[in-house]
Amino acid sequence: MIAFDGISVRFGGATALDGVTEEVAEGELCVLVGPSGSGKSTLLRLVNRLVEPTEGAVRVRGVDVRAVEAARLRRSIGYVIQSVGLFPHRTVARNVATVPRLLGWPEARIEARVREMLALVRLDPAEFASRRPRELSGGQAQRVGIARALAADPDILLMDEPFGAVDPIARRDLRAELRRIHAATGKTILLVTHDPGEAIELASRLVVLRDGRVVASGGPSEVLGGGGAFVRALLGGDAA
Ligand code: ATP
Ligand code: MG
Repeated sequence: MIAFDGISVRFGGATALDGVTEEVAEGELCVLVGPSGSGKSTLLRLVNRLVEPTEGAVRVRGVDVRAVEAARLRRSIGYVIQSVGLFPHRTVARNVATVPRLLGWPEARIEARVREMLALVRLDPAEFASRRPRELSGGQAQRVGIARALAADPDILLMDEPFGAVDPIARRDLRAELRRIHAATGKTILLVTHDPGEAIELASRLVVLRDGRVVASGGPSEVLGGGGAFVRALLGGDAA
């Protein structure tokens, strides 16, 4: 589904990624972990061309992402980040409708889709559709961000520390929600987290980065079992 083929990314003299080759299968929930600065966000951003590789290629279903116009590509891939980035002056409904509107969906279809997406992330449309982002809690804003990312039914969802800014209880709740959404929609998800429990709970595949290189990848138990001291230190030796 998503293939990173011999990827290196350099920013000036600094190497953010160094020879990464990885494949993420269709429908997989692939979790990226690694210390700060290890290249996780960069790896994610290659997929929607917010970053271009210095070497190598990223392919989605065999097609080099550079062959697709960036704006079009971004409409076909959901992207959720820690700060959510909702449009502050637009209602929740307008935020969720962003990509369908860009795609020129008819109004009635957009309205139905907004209601469907809000229900999917368990926000009652009657209560939340007309609110502004400032009238939401952090966890609710994250839900709206997820609803917006899924609105145009993208094949791929990129999530960069999506639950970083919410309290532990809301976080657990959102994590359960994401598992449910993943099971229900079968999306291919790439998710970055610093939370070892979250990584192990969510991942069907776990990729561990260190200094721009993949030091372990595979099923969570495989990675935890086979990983060295670095992986154990990062994910917690007793976390499995
Ligand atoms: P964190 O956990 O802190 O979010 P990360 O694993 O997501 O870290 P990246 O954001 O991918 O790390 O950054 C990897 C390296 O590339 C870092 O050293 C960072 O400073 C550098 N880097 C990332 N983006 C740029 C950029 N646009 N220009 C220059 N250097 C960059
Ligand atoms: Mg990052």
